[in-house]
Amino acid sequence: MPPLPQPRHDEYDIVFIGGGSGGVAGSRRAASYGAKVALIESTPKLGGTCVNVGCVPKKIMWHAADIADKIRHAEGYQFKGPGIGKPQFDWKSFKPQRDAYIRRLNSIYDNNVTKEGVDYFEGFGSLKSPQEVEVKTSDGKTLSLKTKYICVATGGRPTVPSDDQIPGASLGIDSDGFFDLEEQPKRVAVVGAGYIAVELAGVFNTLGTETHLVIRHENFLRTFDPDIYQTLGKWAAHTGINIHQKSQVTKVEGTQGGPLTVHLSGGEKLEVDVLLWAIGRHANTEGLNLEKLGVQLNKKGEVVTNEFQESNVPGILSVGDVSGRVLLTPVAIAAGRRLANRLFGPAKYKDDKLDYTNIATVVFSHPPIGTVGLTEPEAIEKYGKDNIKIYKSSFRALYFSQVSEEEKEPSVHKVIVAGPEEKVVGIHIIGLGSDEIIQGFAVAVKMGATKQDLDDTVAIHPTSGEELVTLK
Ligand code: FAD
Ligand code: NDP
Repeated sequence: MPPLPQPRHDEYDIVFIGGGSGGVAGSRRAASYGAKVALIESTPKLGGTCVNVGCVPKKIMWHAADIADKIRHAEGYQFKGPGIGKPQFDWKSFKPQRDAYIRRLNSIYDNNVTKEGVDYFEGFGSLKSPQEVEVKTSDGKTLSLKTKYICVATGGRPTVPSDDQIPGASLGIDSDGFFDLEEQPKRVAVVGAGYIAVELAGVFNTLGTETHLVIRHENFLRTFDPDIYQTLGKWAAHTGINIHQKSQVTKVEGTQGGPLTVHLSGGEKLEVDVLLWAIGRHANTEGLNLEKLGVQLNKKGEVVTNEFQESNVPGILSVGDVSGRVLLTPVAIAAGRRLANRLFGPAKYKDDKLDYTNIATVVFSHPPIGTVGLTEPEAIEKYGKDNIKIYKSSFRALYFSQVSEEEKEPSVHKVIVAGPEEKVVGIHIIGLGSDEIIQGFAVAVKMGATKQDLDDTVAIHPTSGEELVTLK
C-alpha cells in the first residue's frame, strides 16, 4: 500500500516519527489496541537502519563470510573437487540478490503497518507543538497531524569526521556506504573499535580482502569482557587482519572511488581501495524542533527519557537509538511495544516499561561473541573483587578437530557469579555457535539463575553450549 496522501483523522492518539525498528513495532502494537496511529518515515523504505543498512544485510554478509570459512574447512573434512578449500565470492552478483531480499522486507513492512490499521505517511516529520506534527512529504506537500502523544523514533546515523578534523576524511565511506559497494574491494582500511568496525572488518577479511583495522587504543571492543576482546584480538590478527593499535588517521589522500593513501599517527601509510569509518553513531534529532519545545537532549544530542520513555515535555516520548540507551533492534522494538501497551493496552499493562538490565547481545565477528550481564571489571566494581568468582573454560569446538591446526578457532566460555549464593551476573562467550547459544542463557540470567542452577542442568552433548553447565 502506498503512503497516505492526507490524514484520516482530525486527531491521532499517537504519532510515531521514524519508521524503523522502534517506530514500526510501537505503531503496530498501538494500532492493535484500536488506537488512532500515524507513522512517518522520511525515506521510501520502511524498516529503518536494521532492515536497510544494519542487522539484516550485515548478517547476510556474515553468513557469506562464514560459508567462505566452511569452504576452507571442507578440505579438512576430505571434500574433493574444484573450489573446495578456495572460496571465490562473487560480490557483484550477490549484492543485487541481497538488495532484492531487503526490498521484499520493505514491502512486508508496508503491508504489516497497513494491515494493522496504522496511517503511514512518507515525509520528514517535525514537531510544531507537543500536540502537532508537521510532515513535509516527498512530493512537496505539508501535512499537519494533531495528536495526543508524539513518539520520536528517528534512530541515528554514522559519525564521520569532517575534512577540517581530518583532511580527506570525506573520501571514506561509512557503514551505509558498505552496503552500496558494488564490488569487493581488494584492500580496505576500517577505522573504529566497536561492533560495526569489528563485524565489517571480519566480513572483508574472511571474504579475502586485505583488511586493516585502525584502533585508537590497544584493543577493540573495550566495553566487552577482557577475556573476550583479548581472544578475538589474537584470533583476528592470526587470521590476517592487520590491526594498527594506538593509531589514528591523520590525513587521507586520493580521489573519490579511487585508491586512497591513509596516513596514520605513527607515520604509517596504508594504500587501500576503500576507507570505512566506523567510529560510532549519533542521534537523528536535527530539524525536529525538539530544543525549541524545551525537550531535553543530552551532550550527544540524544533525547533524554525516563523509565517510561517520556521526555521532560508531557506528551513527547522517545524510543530506540535516538534515546541513546542500548542501541539494538530488539531494544527499540521492546521499548516501542511496551510504550504502546502502557498507553493503549489492557489494565495489566498500565505500568509496562522496558527493563534495560541484562540485555543479551551478539557481535557477529569470526568467531562470534555472545554476552549478557556484567563484565568482570563491572562485576568487581559492583560487588568487590572478593565477592565474585569466575568460572572459565577455553577450548576448541569439536567441529575444528578435523581442520588444520591454524584453522582451529578458539572458544572461551566465562561465567561470573556474585555473593555466597553464586548468582550469575555475567556470561561471556566467544567461539563457534556463541551467537545462538547466548539467547537461552540470557533467560536464565534474567530469571536470577545461580551457578547451582547451571550445574543442575543436564548437558547436551556434544555441543559447545554444554561447557556453560559443566564449568568447575
Ligand atoms: P532506526 O532503525 O534507525 O529507524 C529510524 C527511522 O527514522 C529511519 O528509517 C529514518 O529514516 C527515520 N527518520 C529519521 N528522521 C526522521 C524524520 N524527521 N521524519 C521521518 N522519519 C525519520 N542491532 C541489533 O540488534 N543486531 C544487529 O546485528 C545489528 N547490526 C547493526 C549493523 C549496523 C551496520 C548498524 C548501523 C546497526 C546495527 N544494529 C544492530 C543496530 C540497529 O540497527 C538499531 O539499534 C536499530 O535499527 C534502532 O532502531 P530505531 O527504530 O531506533 O532507529
Ligand atoms: P560503537 O559505539 O559500538 O563503537 C565505536 C567505537 O569506535 C568507540 O567505542 C571507540 O572505541 C571508537 N571510536 C570512537 N571515536 C573514534 C575516533 N574518532 N577514531 C577512532 N575510533 C573511534 O559504535 P558502532 O558504530 O560500531 O555501532 C553503533 C551501535 O550499533 C553499537 O554500539 C551497537 O549498539 C549497535 N550495533 C549492534 C550490532 C550487533 O548487535 N551485532 C552490530 C552493529 C552495531 P575506542 O574508545 O576503543 O577507540
